[in-house]
Amino acid sequence: MRLILLGPPGAGKGTQAQRLIAKYGIVQLSTGDMLRAAVAAGTPVGLRAKSVMERGELVPDDVVVAIIADRIGQRDAKRGFVLDGFPRTVSQAEALDRLLAERGLELDAVVELKVDESILLQRIEKRVAEMSARGEKVRPDDNPEVLKGRLSAYKAQTAPLVDYYAGKGMLKSVNGMVAIDAVTGAVMGHLAPLVPRGGGSVRRKVKTRKTAKRPAAKASARRKRSAPKKRNKVGKAKNRTRRRLTRA
Ligand code: AMP
Repeated sequence: MRLILLGPPGAGKGTQAQRLIAKYGIVQLSTGDMLRAAVAAGTPVGLRAKSVMERGELVPDDVVVAIIADRIGQRDAKRGFVLDGFPRTVSQAEALDRLLAERGLELDAVVELKVDESILLQRIEKRVAEMSARGEKVRPDDNPEVLKGRLSAYKAQTAPLVDYYAGKGMLKSVNGMVAIDAVTGAVMGHLAPLVPRGGGSVRRKVKTRKTAKRPAAKASARRKRSAPKKRNKVGKAKNRTRRRLTRA
Protein backbone atom coordinates (compact mmCIF):
# COMPACT_ATOMS: atom_id res chain seq x y z
CA MET A 1 0.00 0.00 0.00
CA ARG A 2 1.50 3.33 -1.08
CA LEU A 3 -0.42 6.41 0.00
CA ILE A 4 -0.25 10.15 0.23
CA LEU A 5 -1.98 12.11 2.99
CA LEU A 6 -2.84 15.58 1.86
CA GLY A 7 -4.11 18.42 4.02
CA PRO A 8 -3.17 21.74 5.61
CA PRO A 9 -1.03 21.96 8.76
CA GLY A 10 -3.08 20.75 11.72
CA ALA A 11 -5.43 18.66 9.57
CA GLY A 12 -4.44 15.49 11.44
CA LYS A 13 -2.17 13.88 8.83
CA GLY A 14 0.31 12.65 11.43
CA THR A 15 -2.39 11.10 13.62
CA GLN A 16 -4.04 9.32 10.71
CA ALA A 17 -0.66 8.22 9.35
CA GLN A 18 0.05 6.49 12.67
CA ARG A 19 -3.16 4.50 12.38
CA LEU A 20 -2.49 3.57 8.77
CA ILE A 21 0.98 2.24 9.51
CA ALA A 22 -0.43 0.12 12.34
CA LYS A 23 -3.19 -1.26 10.13
CA TYR A 24 -1.23 -1.95 6.96
CA GLY A 25 2.26 -2.66 8.30
CA ILE A 26 3.74 0.17 6.24
CA VAL A 27 6.03 3.05 7.19
CA GLN A 28 5.25 6.71 7.69
CA LEU A 29 7.47 9.01 5.68
CA SER A 30 7.09 12.53 7.03
CA THR A 31 9.36 15.05 5.33
CA GLY A 32 8.69 17.47 8.20
CA ASP A 33 10.00 14.92 10.75
CA MET A 34 13.00 14.09 8.56
CA LEU A 35 13.85 17.76 8.12
CA ARG A 36 13.48 18.43 11.84
CA ALA A 37 15.85 15.52 12.52
CA ALA A 38 18.31 16.96 10.00
CA VAL A 39 18.09 20.39 11.66
CA ALA A 40 18.66 18.84 15.10
CA ALA A 41 21.65 16.87 13.82
CA GLY A 42 23.08 19.95 12.09
CA THR A 43 23.53 18.14 8.76
CA PRO A 44 24.07 20.19 5.55
CA VAL A 45 20.39 19.62 4.67
CA GLY A 46 19.38 20.70 8.16
CA LEU A 47 21.45 23.86 7.95
CA ARG A 48 19.82 24.70 4.62
CA ALA A 49 16.31 23.98 5.88
CA LYS A 50 16.41 25.55 9.35
CA SER A 51 15.63 29.20 8.62
CA VAL A 52 13.15 28.34 5.85
CA MET A 53 11.21 26.13 8.25
CA GLU A 54 11.28 28.75 10.97
CA ARG A 55 9.58 31.16 8.58
CA GLY A 56 6.94 28.57 7.67
CA GLU A 57 8.04 28.52 4.04
CA LEU A 58 8.75 25.50 1.90
CA VAL A 59 12.20 23.95 1.69
CA PRO A 60 13.41 23.78 -1.94
CA ASP A 61 11.97 20.92 -3.98
CA ASP A 62 15.35 19.37 -4.81
CA VAL A 63 16.14 18.95 -1.10
CA VAL A 64 12.94 17.12 -0.18
CA VAL A 65 12.82 15.09 -3.39
CA ALA A 66 16.35 13.82 -2.69
CA ILE A 67 15.32 12.87 0.87
CA ILE A 68 12.26 10.96 -0.36
CA ALA A 69 14.14 9.29 -3.23
CA ASP A 70 16.58 7.90 -0.72
CA ARG A 71 13.95 6.96 1.85
CA ILE A 72 11.55 5.04 -0.38
CA GLY A 73 14.44 2.90 -1.56
CA GLN A 74 15.15 1.68 1.95
CA ARG A 75 14.26 -1.80 3.04
CA ASP A 76 11.49 -0.96 5.51
CA ALA A 77 9.61 0.99 2.82
CA LYS A 78 9.41 -2.01 0.50
CA ARG A 79 6.07 -3.15 1.91
CA GLY A 80 4.60 0.30 1.41
CA PHE A 81 4.48 3.76 2.90
CA VAL A 82 2.28 6.68 3.74
CA LEU A 83 3.70 10.01 2.69
CA ASP A 84 2.86 12.71 5.22
CA GLY A 85 3.77 16.25 4.14
CA PHE A 86 5.12 15.22 0.74
CA PRO A 87 4.56 16.15 -2.03
CA ARG A 88 3.80 19.79 -1.28
CA THR A 89 4.15 21.26 -4.76
CA VAL A 90 3.13 20.08 -8.22
CA SER A 91 6.80 19.85 -9.11
CA GLN A 92 7.39 17.49 -6.13
CA ALA A 93 4.38 15.43 -7.23
CA GLU A 94 5.82 15.11 -10.73
CA ALA A 95 9.20 14.15 -9.29
CA LEU A 96 7.46 11.50 -7.17
CA ASP A 97 5.70 10.13 -10.27
CA ARG A 98 9.08 9.77 -11.97
CA LEU A 99 10.72 8.21 -8.91
CA LEU A 100 7.99 5.60 -8.60
CA ALA A 101 7.87 4.87 -12.34
CA GLU A 102 11.65 4.30 -12.40
CA ARG A 103 11.19 1.66 -9.71
CA GLY A 104 8.10 0.11 -11.27
CA LEU A 105 5.94 1.23 -8.33
CA GLU A 106 2.51 2.86 -8.23
CA LEU A 107 0.55 4.93 -5.76
CA ASP A 108 -2.62 3.33 -4.45
CA ALA A 109 -4.42 6.47 -3.32
CA VAL A 110 -4.16 10.08 -2.25
CA VAL A 111 -6.28 10.86 0.79
CA GLU A 112 -7.22 14.47 1.33
CA LEU A 113 -8.21 15.54 4.86
CA LYS A 114 -10.60 18.44 4.40
CA VAL A 115 -10.57 20.89 7.30
CA ASP A 116 -11.89 24.44 7.73
CA GLU A 117 -9.15 26.97 8.12
CA SER A 118 -10.87 28.41 11.22
CA ILE A 119 -10.19 25.26 13.23
CA LEU A 120 -6.49 24.89 12.36
CA LEU A 121 -5.17 27.52 14.75
CA GLN A 122 -7.13 25.90 17.62
CA ARG A 123 -5.69 22.50 16.73
CA ILE A 124 -2.13 23.78 16.63
CA GLU A 125 -2.66 25.48 20.00
CA LYS A 126 -3.97 22.19 21.39
CA ARG A 127 -0.97 20.31 19.98
CA VAL A 128 1.39 22.82 21.62
CA ALA A 129 -0.42 22.48 24.97
CA GLU A 130 -0.32 18.66 24.80
CA MET A 131 3.35 18.56 23.85
CA SER A 132 4.23 20.97 26.66
CA ALA A 133 2.23 18.89 29.14
CA ARG A 134 4.18 15.79 28.08
CA GLY A 135 7.41 17.72 28.53
CA GLU A 136 8.20 17.48 24.83
CA LYS A 137 9.98 20.16 22.87
CA VAL A 138 7.46 22.34 21.05
CA ARG A 139 8.03 22.88 17.32
CA PRO A 140 9.32 26.39 16.70
CA ASP A 141 6.93 26.73 13.74
CA ASP A 142 3.86 25.81 15.83
CA ASN A 143 2.88 29.36 16.68
CA PRO A 144 0.16 31.66 15.31
CA GLU A 145 2.54 33.90 13.40
CA VAL A 146 4.37 31.13 11.54
CA LEU A 147 1.14 29.19 11.06
CA LYS A 148 -0.13 32.02 8.85
CA GLY A 149 2.89 31.54 6.60
CA ARG A 150 2.44 27.76 6.56
CA LEU A 151 -1.21 28.14 5.65
CA SER A 152 -0.54 30.56 2.84
CA ALA A 153 2.22 28.22 1.53
CA TYR A 154 -0.35 25.42 1.64
CA LYS A 155 -2.97 27.38 -0.26
CA ALA A 156 -0.61 28.68 -2.91
CA GLN A 157 1.64 25.66 -3.45
CA THR A 158 0.04 22.51 -2.04
CA ALA A 159 -3.72 22.91 -2.56
CA PRO A 160 -3.27 22.60 -6.38
CA LEU A 161 -2.31 18.96 -5.73
CA VAL A 162 -5.98 18.24 -5.01
CA ASP A 163 -6.76 18.89 -8.67
CA TYR A 164 -3.55 17.18 -9.79
CA TYR A 165 -4.53 13.89 -8.14
CA ALA A 166 -8.25 14.26 -8.82
CA GLY A 167 -7.32 14.47 -12.50
CA LYS A 168 -5.51 11.15 -12.18
CA GLY A 169 -8.59 9.61 -10.52
CA MET A 170 -6.65 8.94 -7.31
CA LEU A 171 -8.13 11.44 -4.88
CA LYS A 172 -10.22 10.29 -1.91
CA SER A 173 -11.56 13.17 0.15
CA VAL A 174 -12.48 12.79 3.79
CA ASN A 175 -14.08 15.20 6.25
CA GLY A 176 -11.30 15.93 8.73
CA MET A 177 -13.54 17.96 11.05
CA VAL A 178 -15.17 14.99 12.78
CA ALA A 179 -13.78 12.91 15.66
CA ILE A 180 -10.39 11.26 15.06
CA ASP A 181 -11.88 7.73 15.02
CA ALA A 182 -14.55 8.78 12.55
CA VAL A 183 -11.88 10.24 10.25
CA THR A 184 -9.93 6.98 10.50
CA GLY A 185 -13.09 5.02 9.67
CA ALA A 186 -13.72 7.12 6.59
CA VAL A 187 -10.08 6.83 5.44
CA MET A 188 -10.06 3.05 5.92
CA GLY A 189 -13.42 2.85 4.15
CA HIS A 190 -11.81 4.36 1.07
CA LEU A 191 -8.77 2.13 1.28
CA ALA A 192 -10.45 -1.23 1.95
CA PRO A 193 -11.48 -1.81 -1.69
CA LEU A 194 -7.91 -1.08 -2.80
CA VAL A 195 -6.39 -3.95 -0.85
CA PRO A 196 -5.74 -6.53 -3.58
CA ARG A 197 -7.80 -9.73 -3.42
CA GLY A 198 -5.70 -12.85 -2.98
CA GLY A 199 -2.54 -11.02 -3.90
CA GLY A 200 -0.40 -8.02 -3.09
CA SER A 201 1.81 -7.76 -0.10
CA VAL A 202 -0.71 -6.19 2.25
CA ARG A 203 -3.41 -8.81 1.76
CA ARG A 204 -0.92 -11.68 1.85
CA LYS A 205 0.54 -10.37 5.07
CA VAL A 206 -2.85 -10.06 6.76
CA LYS A 207 -3.88 -13.53 5.52
CA THR A 208 -0.66 -15.13 6.65
CA ARG A 209 -1.08 -13.71 10.14
CA LYS A 210 -4.67 -14.88 10.41
CA THR A 211 -4.14 -18.32 8.97
CA ALA A 212 -1.08 -18.78 11.11
CA LYS A 213 -3.05 -17.97 14.24
CA ARG A 214 -6.33 -19.69 13.42
CA PRO A 215 -5.33 -23.39 13.44
CA ALA A 216 -3.38 -22.94 16.65
CA ALA A 217 -6.27 -21.11 18.28
CA LYS A 218 -8.76 -23.76 17.12
CA ALA A 219 -6.56 -26.62 18.24
CA SER A 220 -6.12 -25.12 21.70
CA ALA A 221 -9.89 -24.51 21.93
CA ARG A 222 -10.47 -28.18 20.98
CA ARG A 223 -7.97 -29.30 23.56
CA LYS A 224 -9.64 -27.14 26.21
CA ARG A 225 -13.06 -28.59 25.39
CA SER A 226 -12.08 -32.24 25.22
CA ALA A 227 -9.05 -32.60 27.46
CA PRO A 228 -10.63 -32.18 30.91
CA LYS A 229 -13.35 -34.77 30.12
CA LYS A 230 -10.85 -37.37 28.91
CA ARG A 231 -8.48 -36.74 31.76
CA ASN A 232 -11.26 -37.07 34.35
CA LYS A 233 -12.68 -40.29 32.95
CA VAL A 234 -9.41 -42.02 32.33
CA GLY A 235 -7.85 -40.61 35.47
CA LYS A 236 -10.72 -41.71 37.75
CA ALA A 237 -10.98 -45.17 36.19
CA LYS A 238 -7.28 -45.70 36.51
CA ASN A 239 -7.25 -44.51 40.11
CA ARG A 240 -10.17 -46.80 41.04
CA THR A 241 -8.46 -49.75 39.43
CA ARG A 242 -5.21 -48.85 41.11
CA ARG A 243 -6.92 -48.53 44.53
CA ARG A 244 -8.68 -51.93 44.09
CA LEU A 245 -5.44 -53.60 43.08
CA THR A 246 -3.56 -52.03 46.02
CA ARG A 247 -6.22 -53.16 48.52
CA ALA A 248 -6.25 -56.66 47.10
P1 AMP B 1 5.33 19.56 8.54
O1 AMP B 1 5.87 18.86 9.73
O2 AMP B 1 4.88 18.65 7.46
O3 AMP B 1 4.28 20.59 8.89
O4 AMP B 1 6.56 20.38 7.92
C1 AMP B 1 7.24 21.37 8.67
C2 AMP B 1 8.04 22.26 7.72
O5 AMP B 1 9.00 21.45 7.04
C3 AMP B 1 7.23 22.92 6.63
O6 AMP B 1 6.62 24.12 7.08
C4 AMP B 1 8.29 23.16 5.59
O7 AMP B 1 9.11 24.26 5.93
C5 AMP B 1 9.14 21.91 5.70
N1 AMP B 1 8.67 20.84 4.79
C6 AMP B 1 8.16 19.63 5.16
N2 AMP B 1 7.84 18.91 4.09
C7 AMP B 1 8.14 19.66 3.02
C8 AMP B 1 8.03 19.47 1.63
N3 AMP B 1 7.52 18.34 1.11
N4 AMP B 1 8.44 20.46 0.81
C9 AMP B 1 8.97 21.58 1.30
N5 AMP B 1 9.10 21.86 2.60
C10 AMP B 1 8.69 20.89 3.47
